Amino acid sequence: MSLHLVRGHDLRPPSRQARNHSIINEQNIDLQKVAATTKLGSQRFPVSDTSKRFYRRFWPESGPGEWNDWHWQFRNRVRSPEELARIFRLSADEHEAVTNHKGPLPVGITPYYASLMSLEDPQEPLRRTHIMTGKEALRLPGEADDPLGEDHDTVVPGLVHRYPDRVLFLTTGTCSTYCRYCTRARAVGNPGGEYQFSPKQWEQALAYLADHTEVRDVLLSGGDPLSIADDKLDWLLTRLRAIPHIEFLRIGTKMPVVLPQRITRSLVKMLKRHHPLWMSIHVTHPHELTLEVTEAFGRLADAGIPLGSQTVLLKGINDDIGVMKPLMQGLLKRRVKPYYLYQCDPIRGSGHFRTSVEKGLEIIDGLRGHTTGYACPQFVIDAPGGGGKILMAPNAVVGRDGDDLLLRNFEGAVYRYPDPEGSIGSGAVRLAAE
Ligand code: SF4
Repeated sequence: MSLHLVRGHDLRPPSRQARNHSIINEQNIDLQKVAATTKLGSQRFPVSDTSKRFYRRFWPESGPGEWNDWHWQFRNRVRSPEELARIFRLSADEHEAVTNHKGPLPVGITPYYASLMSLEDPQEPLRRTHIMTGKEALRLPGEADDPLGEDHDTVVPGLVHRYPDRVLFLTTGTCSTYCRYCTRARAVGNPGGEYQFSPKQWEQALAYLADHTEVRDVLLSGGDPLSIADDKLDWLLTRLRAIPHIEFLRIGTKMPVVLPQRITRSLVKMLKRHHPLWMSIHVTHPHELTLEVTEAFGRLADAGIPLGSQTVLLKGINDDIGVMKPLMQGLLKRRVKPYYLYQCDPIRGSGHFRTSVEKGLEIIDGLRGHTTGYACPQFVIDAPGGGGKILMAPNAVVGRDGDDLLLRNFEGAVYRYPDPEGSIGSGAVRLAAE
């Protein structure tokens, strides 16, 4: 490698210029106007023109009242091959896969989320994440039903205790929609199957938590905890809050994105009683950042719930800086801090969604320094076999020149940092200038 350096500055043009990408935009929304409506405490949930056109076509007997009722959305989820074919022009591959599917992780799409998908194009990103294809039947080397070894770290049914001071509390096997790359595909959408979740089980988990004073942080997940009725969820949060050593509660959910109408005024009022309560929201693509989702995020943020996002890196769906950047910036504008970008777990049948790890590093490289630091998530691999999350970052250290550490900046230029007591970078590079 040949580097021409001057102390503290590199006069060469950047080796990597900012790249031109086609940008996928979020929907054009007046965020100030939505924020003003939210502040007024309106009970009414907004209905976008896309939603209106959709329900008038496919649920003509319904109006905004039904559409905005999350129970109605839940009841009317698109689940069978016939219901799918009524709305989407299914490819032969999709039709066959859906018809032959048995076991957990069925197809399930809320009418609202279906309204965001292409009715014609099987390659459209959101549709690909929710309508199965024949590729799901393939099992590639390294794939498993429980790649993260959660079952191994399960201490009582539904409670995974892997990290020293925090636990994962699986509350339910139900989601409003089922993502085809779900890490818990083995456990969701299969009532009566191998995995069961019930208040009786919650009692066992609560007893374990009361005994384990080292646990200070509980992440409620599933399935989707916001698919649980308000009174039951309130009961569970109250019981958790009654355990003195539990300092911190988190809810992992996709509901504000796939069923934003779930974020009712009464739900946020209830959640507010259980602070400090944080929320991690599963998001995938800028097309999800609609008027309705903006309202849902606004309600949660106004209730003082810190919001973070979690995104799975998916091939052909969001593995492009032209998609990821507007997604991360769009979240930030809506008061959601991009938190994690996940390398797709090697779950059985997910090979068609998985990118190389380099792709994730390339995306982080395209974000860091090129946009607000708050808009940059942490890129992690959840290590198969229960190793936990491992942070992946583009390598900033390119070498050492005597007492100087050589660092690469976001443009690819190399800078010196005086580090006489350090040794990292030694031997990594020889300087041609020497
Ligand atoms: S919402 Fe979460 S738990 Fe449910 S199917 Fe999607 S990824 Fe899995």
